Amino acid sequence: AKELGKNNYQFYTREMNVNIEEKLHLMEGLRIAFERQQFHLVYQPKVEMRTGRIFGCEALIRWHDPARGVIGPDRFIPLAEESGMIVALGEWVLRTACFQNRAWQDAGLAPLCISVNVSPRQFEEQGLVDRVARALADSGMDPRWLELEVTEGLIMRDLAQALDKMGQLRAMGVSLSIDDFGTGYSSLSALKSFPISTLKIDKSFVRDLGRSDGDEAIASSIIGLAHRLKLRVIAEGVETEQQRSFLSENGCDELQGYLISRPLPPERLALMLSGPDLI
Ligand code: C2E
Ligand code: CA
Ligand code: CA
Ligand code: CA
Repeated sequence: AKELGKNNYQFYTREMNVNIEEKLHLMEGLRIAFERQQFHLVYQPKVEMRTGRIFGCEALIRWHDPARGVIGPDRFIPLAEESGMIVALGEWVLRTACFQNRAWQDAGLAPLCISVNVSPRQFEEQGLVDRVARALADSGMDPRWLELEVTEGLIMRDLAQALDKMGQLRAMGVSLSIDDFGTGYSSLSALKSFPISTLKIDKSFVRDLGRSDGDEAIASSIIGLAHRLKLRVIAEGVETEQQRSFLSENGCDELQGYLISRPLPPERLALMLSGPDLI
């Protein structure tokens, strides 16, 4: 038994070394990719439930590695968070999204609200508010067309600091939404003091709408809660007509998901914006 235990231990450490090596390798890859400008953004439309009108879009990052192809953010955002690179990468996302939105408006498209994901470390970083102000000033985009999506977990890490920052961003005219709502450790009582405009129902609760009583109860409760707090509510990951109709019947204000469109390169989104309404 002792022998086995030892072997297990060695096996385990070897596995761990591989993972750490892999991780360091990927972190270094990220740094190089950033220098070589191998990141780009895609944009997923957000639609108003009642009218089917596209009123906004979410910017989502992609890494195009020449050897491995397109790598999704779930594989590298956590690493960028861990290494601290998220601060530089996140600023690039913010600036690229603001400049893109300004370019759409300059091309004559109707103004669109652009949402940018802000991860915890990026939000907590000292210079965030200044970086946002600079991205807006440099791009010439009106602050009211920018929304930042933050997660509940982030806010709970340091409530007073988060409230202060959110207040500063609100004062600048930027909107805030709580992303992945329902998945984190959330304090419902704190929610009422956040200067936010929207709650986003996580796609894990949307997936089984029409099939799972539990998820239906959660989704309709979030919608009810949001409305009682005078917030708007958006559902992400809407793929089927069945999910859409449940959300519509339960008063969800906005939706986003493959049913409407996958995340698109900027020129494809522009085409969609100049086309007819969707629902
Ligand atoms: P998220 O913010 O919850 O974004 C929603 C994810 O769901 C996106 O995955 C989107 O492509 C995907 N999605 C959209 N519609 C559907 C649908 O109908 N069905 C399904 N199954 N999925 C759908 P993506 O682009 O892979 O991003 C994953 C996560 O990575 C995001 O989750 C967000 O947390 C993070 N992320 C993406 N871009 C950025 C960024 O620029 N900065 C930061 N900090 N995080 C980002
Ligand atoms: Ca998001
Ligand atoms: Ca989500
Ligand atoms: Ca997320």
